Amino acid sequence: MMEQWYKGLKILEGDREMSREDRLKALEGPLLAWYEDHARILPWRSSPEPYQVWVSEIMLQQTRVEAVKPYFLRFMEEFPTVRSLAEADDDRLMKLWEGLGYYSRARNLKKAAIIACEQYGGTLPDTYEGLLSLPGIGSYTAGAVASIAYGLREPAVDGNVLRVLSRVTASREDIGKQSVKREMEALIRRVMPEKRTGEYNQALIETGAIVCVPNGTPKCGECPMESLCLASRRGLTEEIPVKAGKKARRVEKRTVFLIETSDQILIRKREGEGLLASLYELPNLDGWTEGKEGMDRLGIPERLLLESEELPEARHIFSHVEWKMKGIRLRLSRIPAMDQGEGLPFFVRKEELESRYPLPAAFSPYRRLV
Ligand code: SF4
Repeated sequence: MMEQWYKGLKILEGDREMSREDRLKALEGPLLAWYEDHARILPWRSSPEPYQVWVSEIMLQQTRVEAVKPYFLRFMEEFPTVRSLAEADDDRLMKLWEGLGYYSRARNLKKAAIIACEQYGGTLPDTYEGLLSLPGIGSYTAGAVASIAYGLREPAVDGNVLRVLSRVTASREDIGKQSVKREMEALIRRVMPEKRTGEYNQALIETGAIVCVPNGTPKCGECPMESLCLASRRGLTEEIPVKAGKKARRVEKRTVFLIETSDQILIRKREGEGLLASLYELPNLDGWTEGKEGMDRLGIPERLLLESEELPEARHIFSHVEWKMKGIRLRLSRIPAMDQGEGLPFFVRKEELESRYPLPAAFSPYRRLV
């Protein structure tokens, strides 16, 4: 019955002239009805507690739902409360995050959990402003947690929602601009319902994810907003949303080394605040070098070398940089004498590389060859 009801609305609305605000206000009924029927069953939806909603929303940034599910379940098993996250061992936290990428998200989760323990008694703040003040929480995440977990009337506008809204209103404004996002947030704040705010936000996000899809043709025939959507009516879905071209990624050449004995391998902990800070890495050098030059630069005595082997090329794409890598395996007769200390490389047992040390996904093509 529900299906027919929101499909029927298409005929009623047709191409009727409406203000942008009225058009968006009219989405509420069909959106909520569609969401009741089509919301995906996801682990974090069964109990929309603030902590679960927060962790899932952070994981979902830049990452697909299917990829997030097992990470979310493992994370909740190991860190079931804000307090357990605040007390998490850094290496263990990074190990659980390994493969999800954008590791600053995990670091910020812990920082925010510590603040929540110190200032809010071990729970997340229950206001939009309070949430927004925590590390790693921007307007989208604050709105998502506020509306889904606390039922507050706050918008949650992410890339999916921006795409949907700009298509429904046939807006040609650049959705990559912060000013356009702020404008959409203000608009949604004016038109969103008083109740079921979490469902309303999730319905917008969900239609953006599975109907008004980011890549490929939107499935307008399955969309609860079709009757109201100007881009669909006017055949503009190819042109909208407008997103000004991103800057081309910088390509960096890098040589990655597997420096190993029969049972141990050399790794290093990355320092500083960069992209992969506080994770571990395989020794690597800027540019493409040869085995001999690499050994010199890494301070490995040549007399210990049993065998040098070229490994296949690989690449890894970060948001702004692409690593174009070549690999070299250096088999040593024994572990060389090395200085010990923070930031210096050290040998670990090969099986520990899997079980204990978090390595960014960029090194996966070579870790598989250990
Ligand atoms: S009708 Fe089509 S273009 Fe419009 S919001 Fe729905 S899926 Fe997107």
